[in-house]
Amino acid sequence: MTELYRNPNENAEEYAPAEPITQETPSPLDIDRDWLVGVLVRLLQTPSPTGRTDAVMQFVGDMFTRLGVPFTLTRRGALVAELPGEPSPADTAERAIVVHADTIGCMVQRLKPNGRLELTPIGTHSARFAAGARVKLFVDGPDRVYTGTVLPLMASGHRYNDAVDSQPGDWEHVELRIDEPAENIEDLRRLGVQVGDFVALVATPEVTDSGYIVSRHLDGKAGVAAALAVAKAITENGIVLPHKTNIMVTISEEVGHGASHGLVDSVAELVSLDNAVVAPEQESIEDGVTLLMADLHGPYDYHLTRRLHSLAHSGDIPCVRDVFRHYRSDAAAAIEAGAGTRAALLGFGVDGSHGWERTTIASVEAVARLVTMWLRTKLTFAKWDASPEGELEGFPSALQPAPVERWTRLAPDEHPAGQDD
Ligand SMILES: [Zn+2]
Repeated sequence: MTELYRNPNENAEEYAPAEPITQETPSPLDIDRDWLVGVLVRLLQTPSPTGRTDAVMQFVGDMFTRLGVPFTLTRRGALVAELPGEPSPADTAERAIVVHADTIGCMVQRLKPNGRLELTPIGTHSARFAAGARVKLFVDGPDRVYTGTVLPLMASGHRYNDAVDSQPGDWEHVELRIDEPAENIEDLRRLGVQVGDFVALVATPEVTDSGYIVSRHLDGKAGVAAALAVAKAITENGIVLPHKTNIMVTISEEVGHGASHGLVDSVAELVSLDNAVVAPEQESIEDGVTLLMADLHGPYDYHLTRRLHSLAHSGDIPCVRDVFRHYRSDAAAAIEAGAGTRAALLGFGVDGSHGWERTTIASVEAVARLVTMWLRTKLTFAKWDASPEGELEGFPSALQPAPVERWTRLAPDEHPAGQDD
C-alpha cells in the first residue's frame, strides 16, 4: 500500500476525504528493450509528416496485430487500440494513452524559376534546423519519390564567401534542391512536382553504444514506441487491467489537432506520452521521466499529475516535474475538444527538440515502465472518477485545501458609496 500523495490538510476534520486515498501499488513491468529500440528505429525510418501519415499508421497497425491487440482506425486515419479491462457493470470508466505518429515536415509552397522549390513548414519548426537536411519529396502517385537537400539560398562557400554567414536563417532563405535535372519551372512540372507536395525530413536514426538515440522525429515516435512496448508487456504477461485502456495513435498533433477526435466519452484518465524539453533552465531529464505540470494550454490535472509522480517514486523510476512555455500536446487538443477526462503528460527527455533531437533508451523505457504501473492501479479516485459527474458529498476536495482569505469590514466613512450597508 502506498499513499497516492500526501494530504497537505490531513488534520482538517471538516475536509475529511470522501474515500480512502490509498491503494495497492503495483511494481513496474519489465520492458523488452531490444524490441522497443527496433520498433522505434522502424518508426523513425518511415516518413510521416502531418497530413501524409498512412504508411506509418499501416506499420503501427501491423505491430498491434502482431501483439494480438484489437484496434480500429478513424476515417481520417488515427488508430485506437484496446487493452481489455476487468468487466464491471457498475464502472465503465476507461483510460487512454495518447501518442502521435505524425512529425514536423514541409510542403512545397512554390516552384521557383531556378528549378528549386520554396518550402513552407508543417508544424512549428525553424528553417535553421531544416537547412542541410536530406529529404524525400512525395509527388502525387505512389511510385515516384525524389530525394533532395534543403539549402540556404546562398549555399556555395566558393561563390558567396562570408555572405553565407550573414544571411537570415528563416524559411524565406532556404530552398529545396532535388536530385534531378531541374533548371526551371518547366523541368519541375515535367517531373510531376506540384505546389502542395509533401516533403519529409530524413530522420537518420543512430543508436549509440552509450545508450543514446540520435534522430529527427523522436518527438512523437518515441512515444509511439513506448506505447507499443507497454501493450507488449501487458499482453505477454496476460494482464487484465482494472480499466479498459485505449491506446490512441494520433496523426495531426504537430499542427495542433491531435487527439481532438476519436476519443470515447467514457475515458476518465488520459496520459499523453510525448517529448520533454531538455534545455537550459528546464528541469527535464534525458534519462528518466519528466512529468509535465503545465504548458501553453494551461495546467495539467492536479490529482493525476501528483498521482503519477507518487507512482514513479514508489517504482524507483527517476521522475521530475517541469513546465514548458512553447509546447502543446494531444492532451490539450482532447481537452479543448471537450473531453471530460483528467489529463496528464509523461515525457521522455529530448535534447534539441524540433531540431537535432536526441534521447536515451533509458528515458523511453522509464516512461513505458511508469505507464505499466499506472494502468494496473484503479482510477485516481476509484469512486468519484468512475462516473462523469456526482454529488458534492463525494467530491474529493480534501486534497486541495485553500485557506480562506481574511477580510476586514470597512468603516462607514471608508465605504466607496459613503454609507454603511
Ligand atoms: Zn512536436
